[in-house]
Amino acid sequence: MSSRVSTGNLIVISAPSGAGKTTIVTELLRRDAGVRPSISFTSRMPRPGEIDGVDYHFVTLDRFQELIAQGELLEWALVHGNCYGTGRRAINDLRMAGFDVVLTIDVQGEQQVRRFFPEAVAVFILPPSFQSLVERMGGRGDSEDAAFRLRLRNAVDEVAQYSRFDYVVINDRLDEAVDDLATIVRAARLRRDHQAALAEEIRRTFEAEK
Ligand code: ADP
Ligand code: 5GP
Repeated sequence: MSSRVSTGNLIVISAPSGAGKTTIVTELLRRDAGVRPSISFTSRMPRPGEIDGVDYHFVTLDRFQELIAQGELLEWALVHGNCYGTGRRAINDLRMAGFDVVLTIDVQGEQQVRRFFPEAVAVFILPPSFQSLVERMGGRGDSEDAAFRLRLRNAVDEVAQYSRFDYVVINDRLDEAVDDLATIVRAARLRRDHQAALAEEIRRTFEAEK
């Protein structure tokens, strides 16, 4: 009905490593063609199976610093010893085309994004317990190494920040967690400010009857 495309929403998702955010977001993207991921830049090495340009844009530390200097990153942070950042251009283009964009980023990134875009919707994903987080991280093949312990230590600080977020999704049963996130995305689309252009167009059709 509308000739106007609303600018897409920004959905920021944070969670400690192993809480299931990648799994949930992947399923959301499969279900909802109106949602696109922001593909972050990172200086960390690809893990087995990860694809450049799909999971991340894998870059050298020099290139990452160049992106910062050129103002190409909306936000960036040092997470678990590596640099991660959100490209400005791709998310702008996607939003202008009407797609909702999901940013799966850490809690430092969430703070920076919301400074620029206070209207961004922030969702924190919690595992049902610390123990389940440990099990899920173990299940992914991380061993009792330094990186594993660092991620667990960081999880304690990250979880403490859930109270700043708009929504909390508890990832106990995966299908329910995906339903919850899909509901949040739908609700964001129905906000009055997001519906304003369409609502005005409809309202104007009533004017002829005056
Ligand atoms: P993150 O992206 O937050 O680090 P992942 O999505 O990689 O986490 O999930 C970590 C592990 O937990 C994966 O092995 C995944 O299959 C598993 N997992 C995710 N959600 C659930 C769930 N609801 N119940 C059980 N295992 C889960
Ligand atoms: P991983 O190395 O497991 O893929 O990600 C480690 C952490 O970096 C996760 O908490 C993830 O959300 C975060 N992360 C990924 N991309 C970005 C980004 O662009 N910016 C920020 N600030 N964090 C990110």
